[in-house]
Amino acid sequence: AKGDGRNTYCFYDEAMTERAFERVFLETALRKALEEDELVVYFQPQIDARENKLVGMEALVRWEHPIMGFIYPDKFIPLAEITGMIVQLDRLVMKKALTQFKKWDKAGLNPGKLALNLAIKQIEENDFIEFIENILDCEDCSYKNIEFELTENQIMNNPEASIETLQKLSDLGISIAIDDFGTGYSSLAYLKRLPIDKLKIDRSFIKDLPQDADDAAITKTIISLCSSLNLKVIAEGVETEKQKNFILQNGCQFIQGYYYSRPLSIEDMTKYLIEHNKT
Ligand code: C2E
Ligand code: CA
Ligand code: CA
Ligand code: CA
Repeated sequence: AKGDGRNTYCFYDEAMTERAFERVFLETALRKALEEDELVVYFQPQIDARENKLVGMEALVRWEHPIMGFIYPDKFIPLAEITGMIVQLDRLVMKKALTQFKKWDKAGLNPGKLALNLAIKQIEENDFIEFIENILDCEDCSYKNIEFELTENQIMNNPEASIETLQKLSDLGISIAIDDFGTGYSSLAYLKRLPIDKLKIDRSFIKDLPQDADDAAITKTIISLCSSLNLKVIAEGVETEKQKNFILQNGCQFIQGYYYSRPLSIEDMTKYLIEHNKT
């Protein structure tokens, strides 16, 4: 309790100072990472489970720090969002991912579609569309091979503003997917009005399939919602054969998850594609 004396306060103070220190430290390090090119892109396959065929891949950023080692995005994306560094970070990831994707495409390895995660801050930038046109032009990538993923919550925070930019992207031929679907608070009215092509069922609903009755009901509902609204649907975080079968049997044929593959480095994805093209 609060009356216990100064030790308690001391403890909290120290913990807060430590956290503040950690944040400043990480922020400085991340700034440096952007400048010194410490961020790398991994790619996770997206599979058509019915045809057993690769249909695309999602680009996922990782940080290779010279001392701290390999760092996952959950550790630095939230900080990048708070500080606004996410705009620069996502553009860097986009450039790197597109450059590599283009190489696979040119080599005839049929990489399918490239899905890129975008923070909402990104699409709120005035020069965003211009940036996209420029980068796709110089990477000589077809717009129809590109898909942007935005989370449900981020879009719903400012749906009216999102609609306009998403419409421009959509007019260019870029597909839009709503990420982490089901965890936020989409209104069905907006789902109809937003120029979106696909919903990604969040991993939290997949995790306890098929035994969890609530998750099973939610998953089925999202799949039938997509079919009614004419949207594509993909399940993420599929780890087991049982989960894969449940999803497939209930009408969703697109799957991303460890069951098929973890996110792969450029080198491993190149091998994966070569293998995949043999069969
Ligand atoms: P997300 O967009 O929902 O990406 C899917 C996450 O689930 C990835 O984590 C992926 O490695 C993980 N995953 C995929 N399949 C499975 C599975 O079967 N089981 C389990 N347990 N996990 C699976 P990751 O790469 O750590 O990324 C975490 C989040 O960080 C992403 O979630 C995304 O929100 C964000 N993120 C990653 N890269 C970027 C980026 O370049 N830009 C932005 N703005 N956000 C990014
Ligand atoms: Ca995503
Ligand atoms: Ca997701
Ligand atoms: Ca997520």
